[in-house]
Amino acid sequence: MRYDRPTPGLSQLSIRRKLLLLVLLFMCSILATATLAAYLHRADLIDARKDEIRSIVETVGGQLSELQARFGAHMIDQSTLMERTHALLDNARYRQNGYLFLLNSDGLMISNAGRPELEGESINNLRDSRGVTLIQTLLDQIQGRDTVFWSYRWAISESGQLSDETDKVSYVMRIPGSNWLLGSGVHIGDIDQQVMQRLLTLAILTLALLLATAGLALAVARNITDPINQLALATRRLADGTLETDIAGAERSDEVGALARSIGVLQEQAQENRRLRKLSEHARFLEEFDPVTRLYNRQALGEALEREITRQEQHDSRMAVLVIRLVLLREIATRWGREHAQSVLKEIVDRLRHQLRVDDLLARHGEDTLTLVRPEVGSDAALRTLLRDILDTIAQPVSINNQPYSLHGRIGVSLYPEDGEQEFQLIGRAEEALRAARQEEREWVWFNSLSSAPVDQRLSLWQDIQVALEQDQFYLVFQPIFQLTSNQPVTAEVLLRWRHPEKGLISPAVFIPFAEQTGLVKRIDRWVIQAVARQFEQWSKRGLALPELAVNLSGISFLRPDLEQILREAFEGRPELLKHLELELTEGVLIEDMERIHSQIDRVRQLGAKVSIDDFGTGYSSLSRIRNLNVDRIKIDRSFIDDIETSTQCCKIIEAILHMAHGLRLQVIAEGVENENQLHELRQMNCDLVQGYLLSRPLERQDYERLLEQDLEIDVDMA
Ligand code: C2E
Ligand code: CA
Ligand code: CA
Repeated sequence: MRYDRPTPGLSQLSIRRKLLLLVLLFMCSILATATLAAYLHRADLIDARKDEIRSIVETVGGQLSELQARFGAHMIDQSTLMERTHALLDNARYRQNGYLFLLNSDGLMISNAGRPELEGESINNLRDSRGVTLIQTLLDQIQGRDTVFWSYRWAISESGQLSDETDKVSYVMRIPGSNWLLGSGVHIGDIDQQVMQRLLTLAILTLALLLATAGLALAVARNITDPINQLALATRRLADGTLETDIAGAERSDEVGALARSIGVLQEQAQENRRLRKLSEHARFLEEFDPVTRLYNRQALGEALEREITRQEQHDSRMAVLVIRLVLLREIATRWGREHAQSVLKEIVDRLRHQLRVDDLLARHGEDTLTLVRPEVGSDAALRTLLRDILDTIAQPVSINNQPYSLHGRIGVSLYPEDGEQEFQLIGRAEEALRAARQEEREWVWFNSLSSAPVDQRLSLWQDIQVALEQDQFYLVFQPIFQLTSNQPVTAEVLLRWRHPEKGLISPAVFIPFAEQTGLVKRIDRWVIQAVARQFEQWSKRGLALPELAVNLSGISFLRPDLEQILREAFEGRPELLKHLELELTEGVLIEDMERIHSQIDRVRQLGAKVSIDDFGTGYSSLSRIRNLNVDRIKIDRSFIDDIETSTQCCKIIEAILHMAHGLRLQVIAEGVENENQLHELRQMNCDLVQGYLLSRPLERQDYERLLEQDLEIDVDMA
């Protein structure tokens, strides 16, 4: 992240410093105010005392003037004058020790009520510490005036030399008609003492206030800066990628608390992001590689095979696709545990690797199957040698923890270009050959040998299916699919059943692949769609709440150009019922021309029907391919649900699928839920819908109708 250059100023200072600065400023202003108050108070006091002495001096001075006037007019004699003067001055004492003094301009102290010992004495030789004669300073200051405030320095001792000098101010007045000077003074020192006393009280109060302020500021600082520092530290840790930091202060109700809670939320988001990132990294890896063997997985193999086919086209050469089953590997897993089985598998894969050519492609095909693609395979004899070598390698005992395990292999073979020119055909046919090898208990089967195999058997199946269509030997069963939030059977998968008059029930797993190979599946699928439409109509007439029904469509049926027409015709008259229909496409279809699939899906959805991807996770399509399709649901293949309890890897894949699907607003159905642990896990993982024997087997129509009427809830494991 880029930061602007810091501008000098307050933001450069830490909060603690800012608070300290504030307190300092506050203290200075308190001190300044106190000092100013003290100073003004002293000046006021001095002024008041000056006013006081002036008024006393002027009052008494007026009376003295009258006495002098009488004396001048000879109404009284000298002794009466002096007697009355003394009486006047003695009586004019004020406050506790305020008094008046009277002297003449020659420095003779005529009266001094406060210090009678000075009376009759001359103060001409009283000097201050600078050697200035006191009387002289008075005469200098009063010269040419009638009154003056006389400032001088005064001392208590009068032995010619002054000690303990203090500043004194006296108000002095000339008494008209005489050379008398009447005055009274105040000691500035007294006032200062008074001021000092008050100042001391003020100082104590101020100090207490300052201390309280400083204490409060410190407490505030600690209360704010400490948690903020901790939060800053926690945030720094978050930025450095340490996401498990404790974040203190979230319980506070002030701004710091809000900040802590926000950081807490950020931390949770960061943790969630990290979790998702790991998950998607993992999912990406899982998209290409099998984590156990580190071989290509089925999906990556599909893409590699596609590239290989393009290369073969240019060289005009022959290529073999081998699907290899490690017989007994599943049994080892069941008996000794998955770990053992994985070790055995790894060992065998390592051995096989040593035998391979650099241009061979080896991939993990399924739990106990591998796929080998050999380009430029050469003659049939060379291919047989390869098959023999592979089987020999697999048959060599493997020892894990001193325990020997013996497996054997079985291989289905298809050849490019004879058996198909597209990778899904080649793989599909090799798988078919492998199934045949198992049925016939053979070590290997070449697909091209299958077609030449019991022709009449295939022919009779072909005819039987046609007859079945005409004679209504097919019927539908319904397997409810439950919504995990409501525990309600909101939808059901429609599964086809064939009751053969002689052979009894034949599984769709047997006749559908055959019907797909022969193209008959188009007719079957159309029959199913029509039967479902009739069923809807019948239920709606009976007033039943209609569920959604999901119909399996083979790729061939889905891609035929008249699919839209088939749907319209089947729902003719009640097109609104189409919104209850869902079409299940196997993931294998998605390998075909994506543009065509896109537009076909859009057309079906415009009619109101839903589209879901069946057997998701087993095909060659990647998650990213689904992303661009406009489908409504995906059904996670049963094999993943099988492994939920034993494989954490598997859970991660399911979680990744769920996460991606929910991101795309798709619902996810888990199929093949057979026990409560699986159901519990799926519930934990937030799966939307579940289907499986645990909740309900596929039901005959009447049973399913009863369920619809009751609107039953599932009553297992709700924990
Ligand atoms: P599918 O589409 O994957 O259908 C689910 C299959 O799994 C059904 O088998 C169902 O009975 C079975 N199943 C459901 N729950 C569980 C469970 O908990 N455990 C186990 N082990 N199996 C469970 P079914 O009915 O034998 O169908 C097999 C396949 O045949 C279907 O696989 C589908 O591909 C195909 N099929 C069925 N009906 C039709 C149809 O009308 N048209 C087409 N084209 N294909 C169909
Ligand atoms: Ca299905
Ligand atoms: Ca399925």
